[in-house]
Amino acid sequence: MPSSDVIVIGAGVTGIGAAYYLRAAGLSYTILEADADLGGVWHTHRWHGARCDSDFVKYSFSFKPFISETCLQSREQIQRYLRSVAVEFGILDHIHFNTRVTRAVFDLAEQRWIVHTSQGTFTARFVINGNGYFSEPYVPRFPGAETFEGEIVHTAALDDRRAFSDKHVVLVGSGSTAVCAAPALAPPVSRSLVLLQRSPTYIYEISNVADRLTRLCQALHARGVTAPLTMLRYYLQAGDDLIFVGFRRFPRLARWIFRRHWLDAVGRERFEAHFRPRYNPWEQRIAVSIGLKEKLRTNAIVIKTGEIERFTERSIRLTNGEDLGCDVCILATGFNLNILKFDMYVGDFKIAVAGINFYKGIMLGGVPNYFHPFGAWHTAWTQRAETVIRYAIKIVAYMNTHGFRAVSIERRDVGFTPPLTPGYITRCLSMMPSFYGTYDLPSIDNLVSYRFNRRSFNFS
Ligand SMILES: Cc1cc2nc3c(=O)[nH]c(=O)nc-3n(C[C@H](O)[C@H](O)[C@H](O)COP(=O)(O)OP(=O)(O)OC[C@H]3O[C@@H](n4cnc5c(N)ncnc54)[C@H](O)[C@@H]3O)c2cc1C
Repeated sequence: MPSSDVIVIGAGVTGIGAAYYLRAAGLSYTILEADADLGGVWHTHRWHGARCDSDFVKYSFSFKPFISETCLQSREQIQRYLRSVAVEFGILDHIHFNTRVTRAVFDLAEQRWIVHTSQGTFTARFVINGNGYFSEPYVPRFPGAETFEGEIVHTAALDDRRAFSDKHVVLVGSGSTAVCAAPALAPPVSRSLVLLQRSPTYIYEISNVADRLTRLCQALHARGVTAPLTMLRYYLQAGDDLIFVGFRRFPRLARWIFRRHWLDAVGRERFEAHFRPRYNPWEQRIAVSIGLKEKLRTNAIVIKTGEIERFTERSIRLTNGEDLGCDVCILATGFNLNILKFDMYVGDFKIAVAGINFYKGIMLGGVPNYFHPFGAWHTAWTQRAETVIRYAIKIVAYMNTHGFRAVSIERRDVGFTPPLTPGYITRCLSMMPSFYGTYDLPSIDNLVSYRFNRRSFNFS
């Protein structure tokens, strides 16, 4: 059985980040990846307009900041970036592709993990799990969908090489996916495009041009002066945290900001109908748009807000009686959540993730030698995931120095209220672990919440 110090599950952002730090710490590792290529969501999400909405200066790894004139990057660009990191740091050779983990068992006698996969069994002292958190696409059931003569396709199955130039398209959704996809699907890619949202969401339009300060810090970084870019990343993170807290604390001010942001572009009537969500800013993730304002202003995209009552043979009928004729209906309705994609046992005891205590986004209660780096909710994933990975490696280093073989935290009940309440979290809340141990603000957590304290863990 192939053996290493650490098995990393998944070759997405988390797995590749983990591999970098393991290599730097001199630990041997193997990455088990179910797919045929690396990148995780940046490999699989191939719909029109797929991109990040976190500033990539912040989202890219701190050890390899991405230099660009644009703030947000496309799916292809992010996957290229991840591949370049994997090549530069010798990570690619450690990845076993097409190797799906089906079961992981912690052998209590040997104090090691036995990981069963579609390509055989692997063992290691530790597991770092970066298997992602999206599971199958969420496809709401619409009455009459089976009678619709056009095509209904979820973004998960959409390929951005497809053109719909002779088709009337309705894009259903209001989250980040719909907001990114709409400008990319607008004519001439489709014959016409209606963006249909069940209820409004907060959207913030940006120009996607890196500002002067960013360009200066990047230029200095390219010349080997790295401190300014490091400080800029922290500054951007602190800004995100401040906006997150400030918007939630002062919702009326936040609503006013969004009102000002949209009123001129869409006019009062459309603003009232389509841009005034029922919830307050930052109760759900804020979608970032590029080019949506202009396409709405010129009517290249028509926006509608309403509930789908049913599909007819050639249209989507809303509960207000309106019929939206279409040939193609694209569902940007998101995914269900699943943070553990295989069966996990400690000895004979099967671990259920629902309600389990999840300390600092790093360890699950009662699961030894297992780290599950979980990123930030309201900002770039890497802002916390990277810190958690470094923290996990500190724990391993401490164990190696002191001759410990196992580390765990107690299983206990903790209360958990999710910081954000988008559909994919509220739908799956009963299946989620209970996060605790941080302020959920990376700019503060990265300074104070991840100081290693041996008393936080049980070592043996
Ligand atoms: C379109 C889109 C845009 C996004 N934009 C942002 C953004 O702007 N900012 C942000 O912070 N986050 C964003 N996210 C969230 C994104 O999921 C995280 O930022 C981050 O990419 C998560 O990385 P990961 O490696 O943990 O998971 P994933 O990218 O999901 O990768 C998990 C990997 O594990 C593999 N795997 C899963 N199960 C198994 C198994 N059983 N055995 C072996 N391998 C397995 C998968 O094949 C995959 O390669 C976005 C997500 C999407 C889909």
